[in-house]
Amino acid sequence: MNFNEVAFEFAAGRVDQLPESDMPEIVFSGHSNVGKSSLINKLVQRKALARVSAQPGKTATINFYKLKEFRMVDLPGYGYAKVSKAEKDRWAKLVEGYFAQDRQRPLVIQILDLRHPPTDDDLHMIDFLYRGGFNFAAVLTKSDKLKKTAFEKQIEYYKDIFSTIEHVPLIPFSAQTGFGNDEIRKLIET
Ligand code: GDP
Repeated sequence: MNFNEVAFEFAAGRVDQLPESDMPEIVFSGHSNVGKSSLINKLVQRKALARVSAQPGKTATINFYKLKEFRMVDLPGYGYAKVSKAEKDRWAKLVEGYFAQDRQRPLVIQILDLRHPPTDDDLHMIDFLYRGGFNFAAVLTKSDKLKKTAFEKQIEYYKDIFSTIEHVPLIPFSAQTGFGNDEIRKLIET
């Protein structure tokens, strides 16, 4: 599968702007600042396809990136405290509207920070994906920031968290070292 030919396609700020679903979509979801842009860039070996944000919570659009055989769908990051209620409502309407559409959506990649427990917003998102019957995997990012013992402890912690729901692949990842990149690519390929 070709991960290198990729181009930014479209940013949708409203449900009626979403492009037609004519290709499989790999969806990326996560808290603002979790490292979603960094992961997308690493996956396709590009420095700045998705903008690594200095200002968390700024991206309130769903961004589409087109590759040869699929699209990457970058959901706006959630959970940024300083965002207004109106903006949060807009986020919810946009994201729920996207998931309500009948689209080719083989995999959602839910990104979590390996160092920390999931936030309430993370748990809400996971619950939403689970209840909606979406196939999803959890990528546990920023793993380079942990030493071996802490790393293993956090992996066990996350295994425990996900043990109550049916098989969810857990992939530790680092955008800095590229650790886990091949595993995510393999998951997308299958
Ligand atoms: P987004 O808001 O979820 O798109 O997050 P970004 O990709 O913009 O990353 C937020 C911050 O975390 C940036 O300063 C990144 O450099 C940093 N970051 C992201 N992923 C990693 C990682 O795997 N390891 C380390 N050490 N830093 C990371």
